[in-house]
Amino acid sequence: MRLAIAVPLVVSLLGAGSIQLGRWERSQSFLDYLHKSGLPKELYYSLDGEERELVSELRAGALYYTLFDDNGTIEQVLIPINEELQIHIYREQGAYGIALIPIDYTQRAESFWIALEGGPYNAILDATGNVGLAYEFLRAFKGSIDFRRSIYKGDRVAILYDQKYRLGQPFGLPRIKAAMVETRGKRHYVFAFEGRFYDEQGKEMERFRLIRPVRARISSPFTLRRWHPILRRWRAHLGVDFAAPAGTPVRAAGPGRILFAGYKGGYGKVVIIAHRDGYKSLYAHLRSFRKGIRPGRFVGQGEVIGYVGSTGLSTGPHLHFGLYRYNRPINPLRVVRIAKGRLSGAKLRRFKGMVARYKREIEELLAQKPERTRVEKIKLVSYIGEEHGAKRTD
Ligand SMILES: [Zn+2]
Repeated sequence: MRLAIAVPLVVSLLGAGSIQLGRWERSQSFLDYLHKSGLPKELYYSLDGEERELVSELRAGALYYTLFDDNGTIEQVLIPINEELQIHIYREQGAYGIALIPIDYTQRAESFWIALEGGPYNAILDATGNVGLAYEFLRAFKGSIDFRRSIYKGDRVAILYDQKYRLGQPFGLPRIKAAMVETRGKRHYVFAFEGRFYDEQGKEMERFRLIRPVRARISSPFTLRRWHPILRRWRAHLGVDFAAPAGTPVRAAGPGRILFAGYKGGYGKVVIIAHRDGYKSLYAHLRSFRKGIRPGRFVGQGEVIGYVGSTGLSTGPHLHFGLYRYNRPINPLRVVRIAKGRLSGAKLRRFKGMVARYKREIEELLAQKPERTRVEKIKLVSYIGEEHGAKRTD
């Protein structure tokens, strides 16, 4: 679709031309894309190993922008890799160049409450058009409230959250700060603290736990974006690297179904496992797969799935371990934890202060009329796979 709207970031550089908004196609590789768009393949080959790893991360449904000049020649393309970093293809003196650059976005604090008539998923979707928000809400309360049984007409939901906007479009998953469900007059709260959800008492809500796939030193941590001062380039590392010798058995971090076992660009030989609650784990640069590991098979937590190697673009044997929620990379170490999920000491005191603040905010919100913050549907939310875009029964 051609957009008539002026998108300031790019248009200001040119003053003319048109912008096309596209969605990254399912199982389209970066090379496929270059070929289809008539862009030189050299753009891919000029990337180094780490950058090619990132390019393997391009996912179905991600929104990207193409800027054409008046003759229909591509001037610039912006393709997001994650919520922080994007591929920038540009034309300079007739030749194309490529670089990774940070994504410009703004963040807005938003909030709303609604009275329920049925399940909260569709109610939140109807009120806000925000698929990601509906999903995050369900995740926040997962395991504590059975929405199928315990929701009655007139029950209420209130949410405080932050939403990123990129070029005027909602972007990335919203970050819920606090949420409340009132069923038959009783209020249940969840609060986000250091990337995880807790109840009012500081007890962790989520039960999903992963184990480390290998016992080895971490040689490279997770980062959504960082500036590499020596290479003078922007980087991201969408997983954790473990420095393990070649041949070390790699174990499934959690129970799940094998989605993929094969070759994937810079990642080399890869196994991807789908877990519950929208989680996927990825194991890259494997030397080989364990016999019988193929798509569709279920594996238990700790089951050997393959062996450490250095296939793909890898400087030496190591395991690259990635974790995704709704196809969005997250830091695996946040979920791989052994400690009991209960806050204590100074952390608990800090948490309690935050809880009091957010509860007051929710109270003030409920005193207002129920608000429908967004009228238009947010259909094109990047980083939520297409399979998560539809309505569902909850
Ligand atoms: Zn890695």
